[in-house]
Amino acid sequence: MSTPDTSTARTDAPGATTSVTVRVPAKVNVQLAVGGLRPDGFHDLANVFLAVGLYDHVTVTPTAPTEGPRVTCSGPDTDRVPLDRSNLALRAVDALALRHGISPDVHVHIDKDIPVAGGMAGGSADAAGALLACDVLWGTRTPREELLDICAGLGSDVPFSLVGGAALGRGRGEVLTPLEVGGTFHWVFAVAEGGLSTPAVYRECDRLRECRGTGAGVGDVPEPEPSPALLAALRAGDASLLAAHLSNDLQSAAVSLLPSLDDTLAAGMAAGALAALVSGSGPTCAFLAEDATAASDVAVALRASGTCRAAHTATGPAPGATVLRAEV
Ligand code: ATP
Repeated sequence: MSTPDTSTARTDAPGATTSVTVRVPAKVNVQLAVGGLRPDGFHDLANVFLAVGLYDHVTVTPTAPTEGPRVTCSGPDTDRVPLDRSNLALRAVDALALRHGISPDVHVHIDKDIPVAGGMAGGSADAAGALLACDVLWGTRTPREELLDICAGLGSDVPFSLVGGAALGRGRGEVLTPLEVGGTFHWVFAVAEGGLSTPAVYRECDRLRECRGTGAGVGDVPEPEPSPALLAALRAGDASLLAAHLSNDLQSAAVSLLPSLDDTLAAGMAAGALAALVSGSGPTCAFLAEDATAASDVAVALRASGTCRAAHTATGPAPGATVLRAEV
């Protein structure tokens, strides 16, 4: 790979774009089927993603040539977001710059509403947002397939953050097939105090499988498959049917690590939710509601229950990463 040539940075040109803002959604896994532990340490998944209208906003602006990238963050819990090169948004900037031989001289600002380490793919969303924003800022016009390829290299959930809507993820979750959704679903998300580490939740899932005596390896656990009934519920836009088929193989592991999640799940059900589940690796809890009014009632009850730090309503499916503003 050649050394980045800063003279090719297109932001110096008169009339160049000076700031780009991209909005990017959170996700909930309406089905997360986890296969056995592979020899490479990963698990095969059947992962049915639904993007929901809880958003981070990622704004990129050029910095002085050769200054390199930096990131700032605003919103709740930003003290838990790394502000060095390990931030997934900066890793996305670096990957795109390397692909085009451009020096990654940008300031990335993340205005964060997606819970941090909450099982809603917040970091992945920021990576997809920064990638799209820089592609517009630098005028690099990267083909969609190449952007998706870069996303997959950054993390299993990043390609879905770019495309949004609903999709089935196979492999580690990064091999996507778009899914048809026949209506709007109303959700409530209960944000926990603190986060859970995704690798720790997978390790706990394996440990629980070993304890149950079923084994945790690829030969012990059935191949993860999407549920035909769940896919039919999505296609029909039928909330009651979807509620009956929501599933998350990581839920018992998340609850084992944070037993208070059982109280949160129970509080939402008592308030009239159609169904409750842990979102991805948690600890955010997701509640499916009949309609907007029911969702609002569940959110009010959850806030009053003392079992979560915050409760937000959101609908899905939501669009993937979207350019909101490009200033010249
Ligand atoms: P997923 O659902 O994809 O497993 P998550 O939603 O549980 O992820 P994230 O919010 O993506 O969790 O954060 C996981 C960890 O990633 C954080 O604890 C943090 O250390 C790190 N991280 C890196 N970049 C970011 C970012 N831009 N925003 C939030 N966390 C980030």
